[in-house]
Amino acid sequence: MKTGEERLAELYEEVARHARLYYEEDSPVVSDAEYDALTRELLELERAYPELARPDSPTKRVGGAVLDKFRKVEHEEPMLSLDNVFGEGELRAFVTRLEQGAGEDFCAGAAPAFVCEMKIDGLAVSLVYEDGVFARGATRGDGRIGEDVTENLRTIRTLPPRLKQDVPGRLEVRGEVLITREQFAELNRVREENEEPLFANPRNAAAGSLRQLDSRVTASRGLSVFLYYIVDAEKHGVTRQSGALRRLEELGLPTQKAWKLCRSFEEAAAFIETWREERFSLNYATDGVVLKLDDIALWNRLGSTSHAPRWAVAFKYPPEEVFTRVLGIDISVGRTGALTPVANLEPVRLGGTTVQRAGLHNEDELRRKDIRIGDRVRVRKAGEIIPEVVDVDTGARTGAEVPFVMPETCPVCGSPAVRLPGEAAVRCSNRASCPAQLKEGLRYFASRGGMDIRGLGDKLAEQLVEKGVVRSLADIYALTKENLMGLERMGEKSAQNLLGSIEKSKKRPLSALIAALGIRFVGDRAADALAGPDGHFDSMEALRNASEEELAGIDGIGPVIASSAAAFFRDPANGELLTRLAASGVSMTAVRPPREDAEKKKTFAGMTVVFTGELSSVTRAEAEEKVRALGGRVAGSVSAKTSLVVAGESAGSKLKKAHTLGVRVVSETEFLEMLEQ
Ligand code: NAD
Repeated sequence: MKTGEERLAELYEEVARHARLYYEEDSPVVSDAEYDALTRELLELERAYPELARPDSPTKRVGGAVLDKFRKVEHEEPMLSLDNVFGEGELRAFVTRLEQGAGEDFCAGAAPAFVCEMKIDGLAVSLVYEDGVFARGATRGDGRIGEDVTENLRTIRTLPPRLKQDVPGRLEVRGEVLITREQFAELNRVREENEEPLFANPRNAAAGSLRQLDSRVTASRGLSVFLYYIVDAEKHGVTRQSGALRRLEELGLPTQKAWKLCRSFEEAAAFIETWREERFSLNYATDGVVLKLDDIALWNRLGSTSHAPRWAVAFKYPPEEVFTRVLGIDISVGRTGALTPVANLEPVRLGGTTVQRAGLHNEDELRRKDIRIGDRVRVRKAGEIIPEVVDVDTGARTGAEVPFVMPETCPVCGSPAVRLPGEAAVRCSNRASCPAQLKEGLRYFASRGGMDIRGLGDKLAEQLVEKGVVRSLADIYALTKENLMGLERMGEKSAQNLLGSIEKSKKRPLSALIAALGIRFVGDRAADALAGPDGHFDSMEALRNASEEELAGIDGIGPVIASSAAAFFRDPANGELLTRLAASGVSMTAVRPPREDAEKKKTFAGMTVVFTGELSSVTRAEAEEKVRALGGRVAGSVSAKTSLVVAGESAGSKLKKAHTLGVRVVSETEFLEMLEQ
């Protein structure tokens, strides 16, 4: 059993870690309810052992550190958090505390009026309008210093660049940037398809989208905003929160409609009750109700703690959970071949929708939760949107439940499914022609670092696969003008050009072909080590015949790459593909430059080069290729190990870091000269 003191120390660490993951990296690993429970335990221990409470405790802080990549903005009035209450009893206690805190003449003896607003699951922002024109916007940050996200906020369509009415001077308003349920679902659908980690909840999706360096990315995420606070409201002639919400609307600023002026505690409690279910009909996620005293004069009297105002509180709804049964477990195959188990559930109402499927992530997750077919399970929605199986009601087992075993073959194409060391996912090894992966495989095969087939992009790859024209990568080399001209937006000339670049691709170096096959972990560097100018193998044949041990012994090929490459070449479907490619005339041998040439051109031998900023006369990919061809290594970030930084137009933090570390920096022109040496 741990002592209170030990637990306190442990909780400091744990809560601080989760806060960092959530606020700074936008990628929490526990649910909000779990985080709230830990914070609450920490608060209670701090109260029990006040002498041990640390001034830097996460319970006393607001949000997270501000990231260096943004310009910093100091908030004139701190942007605080809110204290939470979790039930009617606690809410009543809050109101009583308020009344006592404000003295006997609180509301002149009358019952206090509250504004109840839905608590939006987004992130707080501050917006400044100068003479009615949007001038600057910032995140809450640590409450005192936020991040300047003005340009990103300008991409929000509903945010007016100019107010509807004249407001001379400075007006600062605050609110919440959010993402609608549809946008959130769409964003995660695309991420799932690309096998990128999903956003845990709408708040993280909104935060991750707003805190982008490139405003075009933010624009593509379709964010929304609701305002709910006017800084120094009284100076603007606003004396009540209900008045502030109306005034914001008059100014043309977006506000949420789900709020009410409640004249008694009972009315506020009724609002909370009504919205417990009703909130699922809103097109944005909410996780509670914020209760604010309506009378702004009282706000100033009550003041705030370092963490939150005393005149408002957030009532948090418990996460909705239901029990249902697992009817079966299916496997879905993603576009890069990951096999994901999905539970088919007995349909059940949860958080406003009928839930019948829940992703189970991967084999480990399934084992850890020990979910069996027939089990009674507890289901909830992460971020109120994504259904997930929390745990199994093991007490309800009858013995008839069937444990699920991950299949050994891909359910779509029948090729072996393998799990590579260090990976959570089991993947279909037939990357090159499994129908589930073919579109992505085709796009990748044709990309510049691969077979460099100009004109074969996303849209065309999709059509070729959907129309059944291409069923394996090898089919590309059997395409005819007739095949192509039946496709959308494909005239005779573009068909001709495409066939020309397909023909040309047959002469691509062997290393490019290896990279184009999309073998997991075998990118251009590994492909170079296998069959590049200084590579180990001279032919595809030799590579195919190599054992895993032999592969692992090659400089630049680690055990994970070796195991992945070996699994690829073991699959007969891939063998057949290579045979067909060879029969179509695709080059299967390495063409090596004469030795002395290779020796002469080693300008970047042993060097690690980092590019930053925009290059004007070559693309980043070409420049990187050149460095590699001349013996160098390309890295993404600057460290003490960097030998050279090539700084293009508007180079940013990497350049700064290079100067700090004393790393040699050259301009684009100097770099081009080095290529000529
Ligand atoms: P909070 O979200 O509990 O409450 C304060 C915030 O509510 C304000 O800053 C404002 O942005 C927002 N808000 C939404 N609607 C509002 C309205 N109508 N009026 C006023 N404010 C409104 O506090 P927080 O400090 O932003 O974050 C704490 C939350 O983050 C908790 O829900 C916690 O569970 C979660 N969290 C989770 C993790 C994790 O690892 N899962 C880690 C840290 C924090």
